[in-house]
Amino acid sequence: MPVITIIGMTRKIRPKQPPVPAERPETARQEIIHVLTGNTLSARDISINVGVRERDVYDHLEHIRRSLERKGGELVVTPSECRKCGFVFRKRDRLTRPSKCPSCRGQSITEPLFSVKP
Ligand SMILES: [Zn+2]
Repeated sequence: MPVITIIGMTRKIRPKQPPVPAERPETARQEIIHVLTGNTLSARDISINVGVRERDVYDHLEHIRRSLERKGGELVVTPSECRKCGFVFRKRDRLTRPSKCPSCRGQSITEPLFSVKP
């Protein structure tokens, strides 16, 4: 059985392959850009569409925002809004949803929405 012998030898010689990383940042970012082009989605929607954990979506969006700006594109953010008093978080730099309204201290706040202008 020469074939089996060769395979057995190859296995011995070849160094152990590192496990395939579960997350491929570049691919995930490409997919996020893809789903956000022409669509306006929340981080949760992106998470479901791309298969990335919601908290990781925000990291990817930060990178995407910077890389789009370098290329003359834009990550368009629809800011969070307080459901109670209507306060809009326009000046917020972070992309995550704020936990509390600075105006009425309400905690019912809409998710920010994202879209890509290439
Ligand atoms: Zn409020």
